[in-house]
Amino acid sequence: MLQEKIKNELSFSYAQRLNQLPGYLFVEIDRKKKEMIKQGVDIINLGIGDPDQPTFAHIVEAMKKALDNSQYHHYPMGTGLEQFRQVSASWYKRRFGIEINSAKEIYTLIGSKEGIGHFPLAFINPGDVVLIPEPAYPVYTSSTVFAGGVPYYLPLLEENNFLPDLSVIPQAIKEKAKLLFLNYPNNPTAAVANKEFFKQVVAFARKNGIIVVHDAAYSEIYFQEKKPLSFLEIEGAKEVGVEFHSLSKTYNMTGWRIGFVVGNEKLIKGLSQVKDNFDSGVFDCIQIAGIKALEESGEAVEKIRQMYKGRRDVLVEGLRNLGWEVRMPQATFYVWARVPGNYSSAEWAKRLLEEAGIICTPGKGFGPSGEGYVRFALTVDEDRLKQSLDRMSKVSF
Ligand SMILES: *Cc1c(COP(=O)(O)O)cnc(C)c1O
Repeated sequence: MLQEKIKNELSFSYAQRLNQLPGYLFVEIDRKKKEMIKQGVDIINLGIGDPDQPTFAHIVEAMKKALDNSQYHHYPMGTGLEQFRQVSASWYKRRFGIEINSAKEIYTLIGSKEGIGHFPLAFINPGDVVLIPEPAYPVYTSSTVFAGGVPYYLPLLEENNFLPDLSVIPQAIKEKAKLLFLNYPNNPTAAVANKEFFKQVVAFARKNGIIVVHDAAYSEIYFQEKKPLSFLEIEGAKEVGVEFHSLSKTYNMTGWRIGFVVGNEKLIKGLSQVKDNFDSGVFDCIQIAGIKALEESGEAVEKIRQMYKGRRDVLVEGLRNLGWEVRMPQATFYVWARVPGNYSSAEWAKRLLEEAGIICTPGKGFGPSGEGYVRFALTVDEDRLKQSLDRMSKVSF
């Protein structure tokens, strides 16, 4: 039989780049979770960074209308619609006070993850070092590995307000380093960067000839008077880097896949050359919806900030009452909490699941410096959070 022949003759082995990806740490927790769901246990999921609320109605309406226009049914332009880029540039100007040339300094992305994932392919040669904070969003490591780069990790420690200490990077590493990833407001630590830090980053990048890639996916989810900064607000930043923006978290559009990158023209050009060979851009109708999102969502975004803030207060105060040590997050929809007692983060996550039916993410999954913490996502309502606190109070530590 043909099928048998194929089975006998072919043996597949994965490319080395797949074997180089860090292993998945939570196989057991995952298995347990699936089993409990199957048994019908009422699980409170504080594990995933995906808003629970629907996309704002005015954005959905704009999409519906756009669908009837057959002009949008063709291949989109890789760069994105001129209007989408102009509106993104105007949004940038309004929000951060920075002038962006919409023809050269901005590029539409199929979600910021896509852009971050492809960026190193344009600039990293095999053996080049990439500076990556940890704990962190995993895509910085996988995109580095896929480009043949070598990650050098910068621990984000609570005593440094979860900012990397650039002064301790060895000279030999600085010489081989080609790129630095940053992400503020930060996932998973919920830390916010100040101007002083970004100034140090620009000086560091200039001195050592390092490209800065700043992931600003949570720039609009903040609770403090002082809004999070754009990296590009710092003098000289546009000469050394780019900033990735996403419509996903701000407008509850995670499923739509749209974002953009802003900054240095040459860096954006490099990314566009990679992208032009992999994808054909964002469906025009989604860009039309994105325009609506960027232009008319001021009030709606303010409402979700208030919503997350209310949830944050409930969870942080509740955890503190239970004896947890927790910082009050000033941005993002995450709470990064030090686990009580002498448990590892994975052990805690397992106990919370088994004894309270609560899913959270063990900090170690984001990198070794995440050990001792768990991440809670504020993606369930206040009643559900109160219920989860009630259940947690019955887990002894
Ligand atoms: C959610 C997230 C992204 C990805 O956003 P998309 O635009 O939906 O791809 C990027 N970076 C961080 C840190 C995130 O948490």
